Amino acid sequence: MPENFGIIFRSRMLVYQFIHRWDVLTEARKARKGNKFWILDTEFWILPLMPLFDAHCHLQDERLFQHLDEAMQRATNAGIGGLMCCGNCEEDWPRLPGIVRRFPQVRLSFGLHPWYIGKRSEAWLHALKTHLTTTPSAVGEIGLDHALDKATFADQETVFLTQIHLANELQRPVTIHCRRAWGRMMELLDEKGWPAHGFVLHSYSGSCELVQPLVRRGAFFSFSGAITFDQNRKGREALITVPLDRLLIETDAPDLMPLLPPDAPFISGSQGPINEPVYLTEILKVAARIRNAPEQELAEITTRNAEELWGQLLGVNYFGFRNTIKLI
Ligand SMILES: [Zn+2]
Repeated sequence: MPENFGIIFRSRMLVYQFIHRWDVLTEARKARKGNKFWILDTEFWILPLMPLFDAHCHLQDERLFQHLDEAMQRATNAGIGGLMCCGNCEEDWPRLPGIVRRFPQVRLSFGLHPWYIGKRSEAWLHALKTHLTTTPSAVGEIGLDHALDKATFADQETVFLTQIHLANELQRPVTIHCRRAWGRMMELLDEKGWPAHGFVLHSYSGSCELVQPLVRRGAFFSFSGAITFDQNRKGREALITVPLDRLLIETDAPDLMPLLPPDAPFISGSQGPINEPVYLTEILKVAARIRNAPEQELAEITTRNAEELWGQLLGVNYFGFRNTIKLI
């Protein structure tokens, strides 16, 4: 290998970034006025405006799926360069690979969500394993939900633990849904084992006291549009407490509609406006204000964190942030 290989490689990557990102970046600059267009990066000398990463959404959901072309165009124009799309039940898993073929910036997770465990077939685990082993993907969304009927709790735990076991076996990161079950989740996973290849607590709703114990267990914390509401003090305190290197942001589209400015564009669904990935820019704005941090810094760190958590899945140098020389 020639001595100057590293320099040549870096230069080529730089040219590649310019060519492939120019359109997106020009639009992003318009959409996110006031940010500096160029930022310096120690690994890559100079990088254009950082793309955003939506750490959790459900593009396969019919409410969004029927408007997917326009929704994805709006997201791209606003600088969202990557999205993690989670399949939640047996019926929606087959729809996911087709979405990636249409939109290569989408990454996938397959999981059985606690809301749908009652509808699972006998072959659910086999089907899940087949999807996970035939498509580059992570595990999720899976979890515990104590807002559901108590009679389902034992079954929820069985399904949750089975999928964590599968994720560890296949060496995949996990997306966890936990609602009103924080104590039980800690107890259960302390006993049975935490996901060994990274995990994110999506739309984090736990307390700020729980943040450090969860950090020690390897958690990333993803914040949704719930933080845009002033009355959500608990969520905002947690957002401030989470270490920067464990922070992610998400829309959970088409659910969890954030509080939006009156001039925001809507996709009008039959049951009223629905949440879509473009609103990640609003969530970023509010998160930056609450943490008293520049928007651009938060955009950069959350995108890097997504790369850290789902790195292998995103592909080497997905956004061009990694020092690719080390990885060759
Ligand atoms: Zn979700």
